[in-house]
Amino acid sequence: MQGKLQQTYKVSRELGNHAYFSGELLLSQMPRLSELIIADDSRIPVTFEFGYNEAQLATLKGGYQADLKVICQRCLEPMVTSINQEFTLLIDATDEDIESCQLDSVYTSEGYLNMVEVIEDELILALPLIMMHEDRNCNSYLQAASESLPVETNNPFAVLQTLKGND
Ligand SMILES: [Zn+2]
Repeated sequence: MQGKLQQTYKVSRELGNHAYFSGELLLSQMPRLSELIIADDSRIPVTFEFGYNEAQLATLKGGYQADLKVICQRCLEPMVTSINQEFTLLIDATDEDIESCQLDSVYTSEGYLNMVEVIEDELILALPLIMMHEDRNCNSYLQAASESLPVETNNPFAVLQTLKGND
């Protein structure tokens, strides 16, 4: 059953149970991510489980599927970017363990892990650096400008002029 997930988990208890969780987190719980996108009240389906890897180190494995609204940097119109990601993280690992496993680690606070922050961090890392529509012609001003310019007098500043004119 898909329920709302807790914000924090007591890691020692969940590890002992090899606990598995599936549910939804709310974007509105993630203020740092919300600053980078067009924030709304969307839900982010998430699964994760606590366990141990082959080196007997505590791990958190999971995945999420987020459709985030962002601004296209070519036409400045809203668009949706879908991020599907799986992750494996160590829990409270030493630098040596991180090095030998080639995995990042999350850290508990007094034995509790804040899953909202973990997923928020993962999403921020997974956000594309430059977000644009797949259609390269999504900016009709730019497209019109490049089409109307004869090739021989193609002046790169003309595009800027056109943009200014339409401002
Ligand atoms: Zn666009």
